Amino acid sequence: MEVLVAEYAGFCYGVKRALGIVDEALEAGQGPVSSLGPLIHNRQVVDRLKDRGLAEVTAPAEAETGALVIRSHGVGPQAFEEARESGLTILDATCTFVKRAQQAARDFVEQGFETFIVGEADHPEVVAIVAWTDGQARVFDPLQEPPVPKGSKLAVVAQTTQNLATLQQATSYLLNYARELHIANTVCGATTNRQQAAEKLARQVDVLVVVGGYHSANTRRLAQIGSEITTTHHVETAEEVKPSWFEGAGRVGVTAGASTSQEILDEVVQRIVALGKQLEQE
Ligand code: SF4
Repeated sequence: MEVLVAEYAGFCYGVKRALGIVDEALEAGQGPVSSLGPLIHNRQVVDRLKDRGLAEVTAPAEAETGALVIRSHGVGPQAFEEARESGLTILDATCTFVKRAQQAARDFVEQGFETFIVGEADHPEVVAIVAWTDGQARVFDPLQEPPVPKGSKLAVVAQTTQNLATLQQATSYLLNYARELHIANTVCGATTNRQQAAEKLARQVDVLVVVGGYHSANTRRLAQIGSEITTTHHVETAEEVKPSWFEGAGRVGVTAGASTSQEILDEVVQRIVALGKQLEQE
């Protein structure tokens, strides 16, 4: 059984940067370090950071003292304000590409465009983008096409982990109502690369294994892309991989979301290779 790994898989720029910021703060040992929400959507990595001393809070006031890390998804202006008022040192790990989406949405709203965000309404990144527009941008749900008056001045931004096809679908719909339509393609390169690589790999294999947090939007999207093409399984760890998945499979593909560490990806690949050898001997 041949095991292939996607050309782009695992930690992206924004996640590596956030982990680097936390690492530096923990190493410096200058007081407590907390993250506002889980630093990344990967339970195993978050547990390891907790063991090293990273606390997790749900609101800035809970941190009381020390440094507060703003994770790569970003937060709205109010959370920054609360952190400042609580006297915390802010370590802003908001990903540069997420900031670009926040800024684009804000600019569109300020210029008087009715602004839509193509994304998941309850995802922290989208919640923060809406907050930066003072609640004025609306989340576009492709399944419930929103009513829009004809002749509107419209603008669109996307959650950074959205599928490009979903953004295209939203813009085609809005074009029917727009006198003017401005699009900021804020889907990040890491997302596009991982999605395209997953799609390419899915076409070459009998079974695709996607590794990453069950709460990770970009990992779930990779699993969705894979499942439209081939038999796909989403796992968080190597222990979850089942031998029965590979019976009769000639080629198995492995990919991983942007918040999956190389270590966990390697563990999954090693387990699949070992299971493949076992099946060959049976
Ligand atoms: S997926 Fe893209 S936007 Fe999100 S943290 Fe990674 S690099 Fe940044």
